[in-house]
Amino acid sequence: MITRKKTRKIKVGDVYIGGDAPISVQSMTNTPTSDVKKTLIQIQELQEAGCDIVRSAVSSLEDAKAINEIKKHISIPIIADIQFDYKLAIESIRQGVDGLRINPGNIGSQKNVREVVNACKSENISIRIGVNSGSIKREYLEKYNGVNENSMVESALEQIRLLEEMDFHDIKISLKASSAPLTISSYALMSEKCEYPLHLGVTEAGTPWRGTIKSSVGIGTLLAMGIGDTIRVSLTGDPVDEVKVGKEILKSLGLRNDGIEFISCPTCSRTHIDLIGIAQEAEMRLEHIKKPIKVAVMGCAVNGPGEAREADIGIAGGNGEGLIFKKGVIIRKVPEEKLLEELMKEIEELES
Ligand code: SF4
Repeated sequence: MITRKKTRKIKVGDVYIGGDAPISVQSMTNTPTSDVKKTLIQIQELQEAGCDIVRSAVSSLEDAKAINEIKKHISIPIIADIQFDYKLAIESIRQGVDGLRINPGNIGSQKNVREVVNACKSENISIRIGVNSGSIKREYLEKYNGVNENSMVESALEQIRLLEEMDFHDIKISLKASSAPLTISSYALMSEKCEYPLHLGVTEAGTPWRGTIKSSVGIGTLLAMGIGDTIRVSLTGDPVDEVKVGKEILKSLGLRNDGIEFISCPTCSRTHIDLIGIAQEAEMRLEHIKKPIKVAVMGCAVNGPGEAREADIGIAGGNGEGLIFKKGVIIRKVPEEKLLEELMKEIEELES
């Protein structure tokens, strides 16, 4: 059982982050934000996959102005990712954005920061401060001997101070590095030093295969330590995969239980059916299910039902036939070619 560290609760649109709020899954669009049509298609796909909050880069006035139209057609909050230009932050807020990702230290004078902070305060908008291992100030690199958890955390604390001096506290923090160990040590240190909610992620994690492993290790380790309030998996690929991976990380740790939990055995010489094919097909067909159901696809009747005793419903292969079982108890025998269909039928019943 994971005990989550208590953090301050903030809000992005209608999604709470921190405190006792469920850990949310975020992703980022990779279409030009000003291309409303393309961006909307992508956000709708992300919503379908279970994304809780979406972020889009705002690099021009056109991007900022697109937010208003985008917001009319989506049901999840949208965050504007801003670098350097505080005017784009102000315009995004004017257009109805739900949150900002901006580093106050990067937007020029105190006056600029104050203007952004005042606009956020009046619209109840939270800010994510995002420290990245590649952009730590020289001063901190020298003081702490390079890129490490101390220079990462010190950079974040400096940004936090800028906002706190203006009595702004609707903050969440990210400290992303492309190395999982540095990500873990940085967030662990940060969580000792502040109560703000933490946005977890391993940046530039890589292609879906490598990036999934790296993110699962980095994000998963922190979550298992009770650290983290919202997560974003970064993959060089379709952002929909980021959401799927993010949700699966949370499910693996028992931090969220919506949708199918899939149990399947690795197969061995006792397997006499096309278990790999059946498992892949079943997983695909069950993707849309939102109700928490544990499904097991096991290779043999000798060990399968027992090994997957906790499954709500499962199948176990035999010789030219298979078994359907519920909570470890066999309910009937079916021919191999009907196994998948029978399993689907049972799941539909559980779902209704
Ligand atoms: S469930 Fe049966 S077939 Fe699958 S790995 Fe275990 S023993 Fe082998």
